[in-house]
Amino acid sequence: MKRVTVFGSTGSIGQNTLDLIARAPQDYDVVALTGGRNITQLAADARRLGAQLAVTAHDDLLEDLRAALAGSGVEAAAGQAALIEAAARPADWTMSAIVGAAGLAPGMEALKQGATLALANKESLVTAGPLLMATAARHGARILPVDSEHSAIFQALVGEDIGAVERIIITASGGAFRDWPLERLAAATLAEASSHPNWDMGQRITIDSASMFNKALEVIETREFFGVAPEQIEVILHPESLVHALVGFRDGALMAHVGASDMRHAIGYALHWPERRDLPVARLDLAAIGTLNFRAPDPARYPALRLAREVMQRGGLAGAVFNAAKERALDAFIAGRIGFLDMAGVVEDVLTRMSSESGLIDAEITLDTVAHVDHLARTRADEAMQAKAG
Ligand code: NDP
Repeated sequence: MKRVTVFGSTGSIGQNTLDLIARAPQDYDVVALTGGRNITQLAADARRLGAQLAVTAHDDLLEDLRAALAGSGVEAAAGQAALIEAAARPADWTMSAIVGAAGLAPGMEALKQGATLALANKESLVTAGPLLMATAARHGARILPVDSEHSAIFQALVGEDIGAVERIIITASGGAFRDWPLERLAAATLAEASSHPNWDMGQRITIDSASMFNKALEVIETREFFGVAPEQIEVILHPESLVHALVGFRDGALMAHVGASDMRHAIGYALHWPERRDLPVARLDLAAIGTLNFRAPDPARYPALRLAREVMQRGGLAGAVFNAAKERALDAFIAGRIGFLDMAGVVEDVLTRMSSESGLIDAEITLDTVAHVDHLARTRADEAMQAKAG
């Protein structure tokens, strides 16, 4: 029996993970499930999968969770300390699928067990990549990527020497607005940005796909996880989302990972690694698909990609600034306070200001410095948005 814990179990990645676990319940001992506000889903999953513990991130929802679990034998807990405690409970495999910077601390704690961390929470690598990788190495833990592009790269690298890699190409669908005229983007609505042409994902990552902030995070994630130089990482638009990534080797060969747009593929690969097992994903009919398209992303349409390059060049805690400013700008877009195109301006403004504040971004990367810089970047983002509004 594999002991498993799922952080962010009520979300899109979390639900896909539980779908795979529920197909073979005899193989898994569910240690802990964690969620945020969706207590009904959290309690129902904890009951049906016989979890030992269910945790909501919100202290004020503890009584609701207790009530929903009454008579089930599942322990209920709430708050940040409870999330960390859940991460410290012995498990062989932990899924990190909380959205945003909030996923970092539980993931770090899980790594201390020296087991496997399946990492969907790309923000962990963007905000504190060197710390996360060093913690895994120190405790003999393994991080397996769950982002579809990074799982694809990981799979293309099996049996290969990373030193023979010339370039890594990650594909981008282009999101909801890839074919919109540029002048229409300023007026894009929340509903329009929240609908992805190919993938069914959480709302935040779907909007980040439309703005390409998601791809910007993934470029930084690629650098941190695989240790390649920024100039070795390329992004290409691929509207069909069937080729997830390609690895180019020094002999000119390109190894591509091709598969259906279904996150259960990457999740299942991480769940069963190093084996491959049957997965309930569609098999591609290449003759029916016929054509795959690729084109270069337009820099004017996607300033987030340029900002990712600047973050990698700057190094240190610039990733934590970038991610926090992006999260705050995204909150404001979702709340209707700023327009779609304003998000990149806010992030650039915060990055520029904080990069010039002496010693800030170059401080040692620890959970404390990440939290400090994260808080400051959110405050600066609010200031930038207030200044623009006023
Ligand atoms: P969702 O928004 O669907 O789910 C997020 C999960 O995190 C939910 O369980 C939510 O709880 C919980 N959560 C939200 N805020 C907090 C918080 N402050 N503290 C603790 N838990 C919290 O996100 P996704 O599943 O789409 O994404 C999860 C992660 O995976 C992200 O980092 C994303 O970038 C990455 N990812 C997602 C992909 C996808 O296909 N969805 C693809 C590749 C990567 P609740 O809903 O109960 O409030």
